Amino acid sequence: MLDKTAKIKEGKIMSCFICERIEMIKDGTNPYFVTELETGYVVLGDYQRYKGYTCFLSKLHVTELHFMTKEYRINTWKK
Ligand SMILES: [Zn+2]
Repeated sequence: MLDKTAKIKEGKIMSCFICERIEMIKDGTNPYFVTELETGYVVLGDYQRYKGYTCFLSKLHVTELHFMTKEYRINTWKK
């Protein structure tokens, strides 16, 4: 189900900024992509206030960490 912020870009449904960035990784167009992990992607931050600043983008779209299952959280953070 789409939320109110969903939009369609080039025929693909984009529901949020993070999902859009993940789609860019899958399309090979995200210049900040570093590596893929089992549960998400590591990317360089858009703004490098601190050199090498990176972010983790979860493959599971949730608005709060507690919406992830316990197993998924453990699997994500043990890596
Ligand atoms: Zn999302």
